[in-house]
This record gives sequence, C-alpha cells and structure tokens, in this order.
Amino acid sequence: MQEVQVGNSRYIRDLNLTGIFRLIQKYGPISRKELAENTGYSAATITNHVKRLMDEGFVIETNKGSSTGGRRPVYLTVNPDQGYILAVDIEVNQIRILLFDLNLKIKEKLELAIGGRTAEEVLLVLVDQIKSFCQQNNIKADKIIGVGVVLPGLVDNKNGYLHFAPNLKWRDIDIKGFFEKKLGYKIVVENEAKAAVLGEKELVFPDVENMVYVSINEGIGCGIIFNGNLYRGASGNAGEFGHIIIDSNGPECHCGNYGCWETLASTKYISSRYFAETGRLLAYSDLSRQELDSDKIFQEIVKETARNIAIGLVNIINSLSPDVLVIGGNILTLEKYIMGDIEEVLAEKALSVLKQKVELACSKLGNKAALYGIARMVFDINIEEEIIGRIN
Ligand SMILES: [Zn+2]
Repeated sequence: MQEVQVGNSRYIRDLNLTGIFRLIQKYGPISRKELAENTGYSAATITNHVKRLMDEGFVIETNKGSSTGGRRPVYLTVNPDQGYILAVDIEVNQIRILLFDLNLKIKEKLELAIGGRTAEEVLLVLVDQIKSFCQQNNIKADKIIGVGVVLPGLVDNKNGYLHFAPNLKWRDIDIKGFFEKKLGYKIVVENEAKAAVLGEKELVFPDVENMVYVSINEGIGCGIIFNGNLYRGASGNAGEFGHIIIDSNGPECHCGNYGCWETLASTKYISSRYFAETGRLLAYSDLSRQELDSDKIFQEIVKETARNIAIGLVNIINSLSPDVLVIGGNILTLEKYIMGDIEEVLAEKALSVLKQKVELACSKLGNKAALYGIARMVFDINIEEEIIGRIN
C-alpha cells in the first residue's frame, strides 16, 4: 500500500517537474513568481522544481530587459544547448535537415539533392548524412531528444510507417524501424502537411482553433486543426483533399480516380501542361524566372491552375468553415501570379456566410512549416522521458 503511495507521489512530482519545464519552454523568459501565479503551485514547489531543472542544466537564469526599480528580477529560460532535435523533410527532389535546439530555434541546416535514387538508397545516404551532420556540429548522441521525419504521403504516425508516397514512388516502408535501428534515436514520422499545420499554428496562429493548411507541391496535402488539435480521423490520414474530384473527365490520378484536385492544381500540373504545349521542361527551380513574366503560355497555364486551386479551396471552406486557410508549399513561388485569381473564384463560388469568416493566408514559415511542426511534435512526445531519465 505504501509503495503505491510512494509511486504515486513520485509520478506526480515528475509530472509537475516536466509541466514546469514545458511552461518555461513555452513562455520563457519567465520569473518564478509568474510561474507560481500561472500554475497555482506554491512558491516553494516552484523553487524546488526549478532548482532540480537548473542542477541538471535544463534551465538557466537570465535578466530580461531592465528592472522597474528595486531588485532586478531574475527570469528563467531553457538552456538551449541541453538537448537537440533533428527534423528531416523528405521532398521529391531534395531533403532538408534542420537542427533545433531545446528552445526549438533553428541552429543549423543541411540540404541534399536526392534525384534518381531508390528509397533504400536515399534512407542509407540520409543515415550517413545525419551522422556526419551531428559530428560537424559537435552534437553528442546523448543530447539528441529525437528525430522527426516528414514525408508527402499516407503515414501511420503511431507506428512510424509510410504506406504510400506517390510522388516519391515510395511504398510500405517502416521508416521508424529503419532509423531507430541505424541511428539509435527516437523517431517520429508524420505526413508533411500535418506537421506543417502544427508549425503554422504554433508560430503564426497560436490562438486559432480551426484551421486548414494546404500544401501544394507535386501533389496536394492538407493538415487540419480542429478545436485546437490536429485532426487525424479514423485512419489517421484525414484531410486527403488532394483527392476530392473536381473534374470527373480530368486526368487519371495515381489513386485510380480521374480529375482529383491534385491532378489539376499542383506544380506538377503546371510543368506537365507547359511541356505539352511548348515542348520545354519547366523545373520547380525555374518557376521564379523573370522571363516567365512575359511568357503568355506560362501565364495562361498558371491562371488556370490558380482557378483550379480555388475550386478545391471552395470545397474546403464549404465543408469545414475554418477560421484560417493557409496555402503553403512550393506553389508559393508563384504567389504573385495566383492569389488574385484565387481570391476572385472564392468570392464568386464559396458560400458567402462561410467565406466571410475565413482568413486566407500564405504560409509565413514557407518551406520550414513542416520542420517546425515535427520538431514541436518530437519535443512534446519525448521531453518528459528525457528530463525524468536524466534527473532521476
Ligand atoms: Zn486521386
């Protein structure tokens, strides 16, 4: 009986300890007094827990701004170098790796080209690159809290398993198992757009309860925040708006249907249409080329794509009525060409009662949204075990 009580009290103590750390991470620099006021813990409890966090190097003291008189207040902040998170974004033509410190600030980055390799080759190269990236940046293995991997595809987040990433042409890969075995770190795997909506919510729209992030690249992925939380649905893959059918006579999609939104509104659609009409290849990196400003065919195709993008957005607004609808992904290279047409179609076709309530935005985090989101996810999942493991 007594053992149970001891167990419980340790559990509660650990919970409080990590709870306080999370608050310092989120709101720091913050004073002990502010922590006590905002948590309802006594000053003594805060002092004790903060002391333990400081003894283990997780929290440090800092002076925030100038004192308003009397004793200069001492604020608490996370020691950024007490832990690191690696965030990996596997895109169709490149991989980006960001190193985040414990404050979830970007410390270093690495970009790799991956064209022409099989999934297994890519993953093996990635293992070597992650190892040398950590070495170059002098990051010890025991300081790594976890590695987050995002991919454009159907992901079983619980098991870290990729079902299918059509534009990468990857299928049925145990991403988590592979990296855990080769790297020895804790691995979190997530769909790119789901990670991106978390990143965008956290850093740009912290108070928004209902939002949709539409990631437009070679395909279209979507992430939904519903009542403040990521919405996954029964399968874990809710939000596959890329496969709503907007023209049943349209081109065949890899999912087997015809005229899915992503077959008519992605960057792949623009480049394949451009090739069909001019015989010229248009790489993603070409999209910001100045001479396209005077290329009539290009402008026609982009205009049509913008209107197709808007049709899908109308469906999202009419079905979910989000507070905020964010457009992200490589399509934003064409922001200046597409937004006017998108706004026009939304005004014309979305139900006005719903349209009035939605804010349409372009991603402020650009191609880093998913990386911020997955870093936060890795932090949230692993920080408790990390702190308790190092302190006890
Ligand atoms: Zn489809």
